[in-house]
Amino acid sequence: MAAKKKSTKTKASATKPTEPLSALLRLPSGPVDLSAIDTAATPGYPGAGKADAPALTEALTPELSELQERLYANGRSEVEGAPSVLVLLQGMDTSGKGGVIRHAMGLVDPQGIQLTSFKVPTPEERKHHYLWRIRRALPKPGMIGIFDRSQYEDVLVVRVEQLVPVSEWNGRYDEINDFEKKAAEAGTTIIKCFLHVSFAEQKERLTARLASPAKYWKYNPRDVDARAKWPAYQEAYTDALERCNTDHAPWFVIPADRKWYRNWAVAQLLREHLIGLDLSWPEATFDVAAEKARVAKS
Ligand code: AMP
Ligand code: MG
Repeated sequence: MAAKKKSTKTKASATKPTEPLSALLRLPSGPVDLSAIDTAATPGYPGAGKADAPALTEALTPELSELQERLYANGRSEVEGAPSVLVLLQGMDTSGKGGVIRHAMGLVDPQGIQLTSFKVPTPEERKHHYLWRIRRALPKPGMIGIFDRSQYEDVLVVRVEQLVPVSEWNGRYDEINDFEKKAAEAGTTIIKCFLHVSFAEQKERLTARLASPAKYWKYNPRDVDARAKWPAYQEAYTDALERCNTDHAPWFVIPADRKWYRNWAVAQLLREHLIGLDLSWPEATFDVAAEKARVAKS
């Protein structure tokens, strides 16, 4: 019996990262060299490897659920300046934006999630400034917003594919910083995640998508065209990371060659940021004693 108790305890404490991921994965300010960041690393991972990952990620559920419910409750009760959280996901094709949404964001109540996937702009979106569709998708108070791609596409694909002249995209970095600052000041905690996958791993994943009819739907022939421009994309990502890495909207670089680490890491980052909000349950907006008496009598 005693031995059993001991092993349960060890397991529980080993579910926490060895150091906060918000420090370990935070991109330092200054020049960025993506090639120097190991895409297969597992910083802060408390387990031995892949086999531990489902249990470690699952172990986050009760705490994440409660933290998210507090956030949601604060939004619902229209607490003055109720916060929101935005998890912004960027990365090359196959880096796992969808996987993170399914496996990490899937741990919390869907009612508290506001998910937006940004595609090639629609004719309607094209009539507006590029930040128009982004602003509309910002999470409401109490919500966790998820951006599957984001405003950064307007300095990534738009830059690499030369969809607008350099004079136009070059001014966007400062514009994005200002936009994010306003959102942060309005109460949104912004967590920008760059899912950093290697060129070799991307090939593996594209190959896997072609190996099974169950994965054809994930395969887009255009991904191979983007792959052919890998260095240009890495350069564009480097600039986006370097020029838009602010204290109000920092970048986190998530090594993404190991799917199990990537999913666990993003869930952890969300957990740490929710804890950082230090939210209490909203006060009752009614007389609790009087309502107890009314219910008892009813
Ligand atoms: P997926 O995320 O695989 O569904 O693909 C969405 C596609 O939309 C990607 O090829 C993106 O590069 C593209 N996309 C997203 N935002 C923009 C944008 N602002 N301008 C041009 N293409 C975009
Ligand atoms: Mg795709």
